[in-house]
Amino acid sequence: MREAESELRISASRLKETVLAFGDSWESAEGYRGLSETLGRELPMLYQAYDAYVSALLATGTERVSCSKSCSHCCSHYVTSVEPYELLFLHGHVSRHAEYPSRLVAMHRRTTLFRSLRKDADGDEAEDRALYRYYLRNQPCPFLAGDGSCGVYAARPMSCRMYHSVSHPSLCKGKSVIAPNNRNFLIELPEDIEADIARAGRIFSESGIPESLFEGLLKMNELFGAYDSGPASGD
Ligand code: SF4
Ligand code: SF4
Repeated sequence: MREAESELRISASRLKETVLAFGDSWESAEGYRGLSETLGRELPMLYQAYDAYVSALLATGTERVSCSKSCSHCCSHYVTSVEPYELLFLHGHVSRHAEYPSRLVAMHRRTTLFRSLRKDADGDEAEDRALYRYYLRNQPCPFLAGDGSCGVYAARPMSCRMYHSVSHPSLCKGKSVIAPNNRNFLIELPEDIEADIARAGRIFSESGIPESLFEGLLKMNELFGAYDSGPASGD
């Protein structure tokens, strides 16, 4: 467990240094491609280190996790807290797919639905209420494949990887998600690692990239279009 945590710490620190070294250059076509390629090497290592940390942590407990690769009720959540460089990496990945345009439309629909549920209400409670009401609308993530697996499994963001349950999967569905016997939980990062990962996002702080998965990817599309076409601005 300590070894896995230490590996995760090293990966997070390396990712932070690598991303910060790009500074503002990521906004140009060349910088975007360079950062995209760098993230293609570094981020999978961080994800692997996180997955190994989760496995080591779960092995210290006595309860068995109910999650499996094709179990997907939780993929109807509105995914939030996604780091901008995770969005950039995922955008580079999905914008090469033939289904990219239809996924953009699906993400736009979900974003519009979530905004209408949140209305103009501010604060964590309003956000939580909107997230719950969104979940009840049963709008699966556009990346969810027909067999219940994640279509971007290797590139899925950390927020998706954190979600676990030790109760029966049926309790992850619909209103059961708030039942007292539902035992969903998030496996968060140790605080110092979380802080390192957040620091890596500083180079994006002026760009107004939303931290939700769908809104964030829509923003990436607005900035860069399809991966091979470079920035939409012609930069
Ligand atoms: S959190 Fe629930 S729905 Fe998601 S994989 Fe685990 S058991 Fe299945
Ligand atoms: S990205 Fe993958 S794991 Fe995350 S919500 Fe979508 S289908 Fe599920």
